[in-house]
Amino acid sequence: MSVRLPKKILVTGGAGFLGSHLCRRLLAEGAEVTCLDNLFTGSKRNIGALTANPAFTFVLHDVTQPYRGQFDEIYNLACPASPIHYQKNPVETVKTSVLGMINMLDLARDTGARLLHTSTSEIYGDPLVHPQVESYWGNVNTIGIRSCYDEGKRVAETLAADYRRAYGVDVRLVRIFNTYGPNMHPQDGRVISNFAMQALANAPITIYGDGSQTRSFQYCDDLIEAMVRLMAKPKAELDAFCERHGLGTPVVNTGNPGEYTIRELAEKTLALLPDSTSRIVYAPLPGDDPKRRKPDITLAKELLGWEPQVPLDEGLAKTIDYFRTTFSK
Ligand code: NAD
Ligand code: UDP
Repeated sequence: MSVRLPKKILVTGGAGFLGSHLCRRLLAEGAEVTCLDNLFTGSKRNIGALTANPAFTFVLHDVTQPYRGQFDEIYNLACPASPIHYQKNPVETVKTSVLGMINMLDLARDTGARLLHTSTSEIYGDPLVHPQVESYWGNVNTIGIRSCYDEGKRVAETLAADYRRAYGVDVRLVRIFNTYGPNMHPQDGRVISNFAMQALANAPITIYGDGSQTRSFQYCDDLIEAMVRLMAKPKAELDAFCERHGLGTPVVNTGNPGEYTIRELAEKTLALLPDSTSRIVYAPLPGDDPKRRKPDITLAKELLGWEPQVPLDEGLAKTIDYFRTTFSK
């Protein structure tokens, strides 16, 4: 009788916001999880509850340096995701995306591991196609303040496609649209964490520009579900999917198609905290800030039988609760 061994899974960026949720989910499914992180934006607090589990290992390591090990699956998440963090050291951001991806693809090629990489809606830039479909090539500034992130992520996608063509690496990409939830960094400058922390502190709510720009907000649990389902897909099925849709590598958008203006988000946040004395203030719009963003998730629905389950009001309430219990005095 054969015994089924637990899957060995590497999660880079595992101490970050999304990585910590992913590690928790994979452990709950019985996997042995190695979380690799340099703690640039991640924190031990995010993975504190996991460290007691003997199936969990934390490795302090920078993905720009090669890493060796035998894994069944690699989830590559390492990369700062919020503009203030990825713009702090833009050259390092490019290196993390590009060298980190090369190191993980080399590891997958040399050991036969399956690799899922977290790409982003930012590869569409300030999109001229709305909502954004996977076949859209994007509208990206190569020399702006967001370029280190956007172009790094675009090269990472190119590397995935080339390693798949040249070496047959079993790779798949998720293009993640704005995702939020507990374990977000309270000072990451992203709109949901900013508004929640500001409203909890009775501080001004800072809308950049006139607040008419839109975003679509996906709750973290919905994304993790899509990622796990995508990782489970056999290579042959993904090859057929690429063929059917004329894609150079398996890729799906994951996001919640609900589209809100930033002003609506500020009002929703205040409505959930009726005792807050915060008032809305307007500040200048940062450079290259996309005007509209909304995913077309037709391909994810088809391939994964998936669509988001958590509405914005419900996810926002859980997230505000996390910030209140974890950070407010
Ligand atoms: P995060 O900043 O919370 O997590 C990133 C993690 O990567 C952190 O733990 C950080 O310490 C680690 N890291 C950064 N540079 C590293 C390096 N050189 N070596 C090792 N570890 C490193 O961000 P997140 O929101 O959890 O994002 C995770 C992934 O998802 C990122 O690749 C991001 O680009 C992608 N993504 C996220 C969103 C979102 O809305 N949250 C949207 C699109 C794409
Ligand atoms: N934003 C805002 N106030 C803030 C933080 C962000 O108005 O305090 C705006 C920002 O200019 C952008 C949107 O909210 O238009 C989403 O910003 P975020 O940094 O969360 O994500 P991204 O721009 O990368 O989608």
